[in-house]
Amino acid sequence: MAEPTEDMTPFEAVNFFFHEAADQLRMPDATRDVLSGTYREIRVQVPLRMDDGAIRTLYGYRVQHNGARGPYKGGVRYHPHADLDEVRALASLMTWKTAIVDVPFGGAKGGVQVDPYELSSAELERLTRRYVAQISYIIGTYRDIPAPDMGTNAQTMAWMMDAYGQRAGHSPGIVTGKPVALGGSLGREAATGRGCIIVATEAVRDLGKDPDDLTLAIQGFGNVGSWAARIAKADGYNIVAVSDVHGAIYDPRGLRIPDLLDHVAETGTVADYPDAERIDDDAILELDVDVLLPAALGGVITKSNADRVKASVIVEGANHPVTPLADHMLADRGVTIVPDLLANAGGVTVSYFEWTQNIQQFHWEEDEVNAELRKRLIKAYQVVRDYARTHDTTLRRAAFILAAERVAESANLRGYL
Ligand code: GLU
Repeated sequence: MAEPTEDMTPFEAVNFFFHEAADQLRMPDATRDVLSGTYREIRVQVPLRMDDGAIRTLYGYRVQHNGARGPYKGGVRYHPHADLDEVRALASLMTWKTAIVDVPFGGAKGGVQVDPYELSSAELERLTRRYVAQISYIIGTYRDIPAPDMGTNAQTMAWMMDAYGQRAGHSPGIVTGKPVALGGSLGREAATGRGCIIVATEAVRDLGKDPDDLTLAIQGFGNVGSWAARIAKADGYNIVAVSDVHGAIYDPRGLRIPDLLDHVAETGTVADYPDAERIDDDAILELDVDVLLPAALGGVITKSNADRVKASVIVEGANHPVTPLADHMLADRGVTIVPDLLANAGGVTVSYFEWTQNIQQFHWEEDEVNAELRKRLIKAYQVVRDYARTHDTTLRRAAFILAAERVAESANLRGYL
């Protein structure tokens, strides 16, 4: 395998990690070709009537990466950077993620290239209904099941379910991450952030440390970051810095999270929180903390800043926040990286629970959801950790090797390889 370069696109970067795993597995070329490509990609035009009557022409995507292990599964992102390559990268990560937590899904992702914060609620609803109409031919409760991601939420899923149901009849299992009142699962909203902290704590305990003695910085205070903050605080971590798109704040004595959450509910941002020091946006990645949780965009830790990262544990709440080159630099320095495949898999795990509740027309209690989530993530973490220890490799390599092996096995058994 060639050395990674810093100009790799997001999909090339994910495939770099896949090829490292495939090398290790001595995977035949035919299998590699199938697993490093995507099964189906659609690009749809989404003309959007704005509230003032003007029409904006937007473009959306749905990429199905691999379905050997079950229906395609993955979120839909509304973001200006959600282009085809990014959506491919995220779809392929879903294939490996669902395999590593062993839920019976394949991998997919969708995106609309737009800044959702510039749109009114009525515009977002029209956009969502139009996008669903355009992709409705390839999604389905047993085909491909969307979910929330950056820029989308439970309300978006409610519109998607309704738009799909207008043609297909009541179909709660068509999306996950729905509002509880429409068949969503208790515990789903918190699940990704909760999962980050569950696996983070397993990893720090393996290093002989205790959350009570550790400082934590969180980049991103959306669904993942803000839930991770709540749960980390309850589990004893000292959260000293957080950031969002408007700015970063730092208090070496520890932020008062409930108070900060109130402030965010009122103002929409952490940036002007009065009881902390304002720091440069990128400085949050370089603070002298024990644990760093990037929970925003991909590609934030690169060759240019990896040397300045001081945390000894990085927990990838975001998808692909560390470039392959930075990954190697950090691994050489002995930094433990809990990879996205494990760290942010709590969301799709509870999506699986939601989907099973929908198709059984049954409802679980929140405690049950949280206990099942914990059980599954800890098991997945332990399998990856044991492999990494036995083969003297990183958690990321171990996770990619195990995931690629499982997907290849299913693909082979189906007979298309
Ligand atoms: N968008 C989330 C992710 O990246 C959740 C996907 C899902 O629940 O299907 O894992």
